[in-house]
Amino acid sequence: MKIAIDPGHGMNNSAPGVFDPGATKTVNGVTFAEADVVLRYGLTLKEKLEGLNISFFMTRSSSANSAPVGGRATRAKNAGCTHFVSLHLNSAGSPTASGIEVLFRDDNKDRPLASRLQQKLFQVTNLKDRGIKKRTDLAVLKFSPGPAVLIELGFISNDSDRDFVIMRENRLVICQAIIEILTSAS
Ligand SMILES: [Zn+2]
Repeated sequence: MKIAIDPGHGMNNSAPGVFDPGATKTVNGVTFAEADVVLRYGLTLKEKLEGLNISFFMTRSSSANSAPVGGRATRAKNAGCTHFVSLHLNSAGSPTASGIEVLFRDDNKDRPLASRLQQKLFQVTNLKDRGIKKRTDLAVLKFSPGPAVLIELGFISNDSDRDFVIMRENRLVICQAIIEILTSAS
C-alpha cells in the first residue's frame, strides 16, 4: 500500500505562477485559507504514516511546491500509489451551510472507501453528515490504480466547522480516523 496525500489547492494549482488559496474566510481581520488548513492536515497524515512505516506520496508539502491540479493524479500513479486522498474544505454563501462529505468518482473502485470514510469521520467529529457524493468532473479523482476520494472536511465559511477543523486536537483525531480506514481491510 502506498497512499497519495493531496492537500488541495496551492502553488500553480489552477494557473501557472499563481498561488491558489482555495476558499477563504476573513474573521476579525484574520484570513483563513483552505490551502493552508488542508496542508496542515496533509502534514499530520504524513507524520502519522511515517510513524507507522506506511509508504506515502505528497502531491505538495509546502505552499511553495508547484502542483497543477491536472497533474496530481498522474504524479501519484507514477509514484506507485495504490490509494489517493485529496483534502479540501467546503465553502458556501450561506454561513449556515455546514458538515463533512466525501466525494468519489467510480461506484466500484472508489465508493466503498468513500462510504467507510464518511461513516467514520461523522462518528469521530459529529459534524453534520452530508453523505457521499459522486463527482465525475474532478481531475484528482481520475487516479486510476486504486480508490480515490476527496474529503471535504467541513465548511470554512461556517464558524463552528472552521473552529472545529483548525483545532490541533481535532486534526489529530481526524487524521487518525482517515488512516484507520485506509489501512483496514474493506
Ligand atoms: Zn478545495
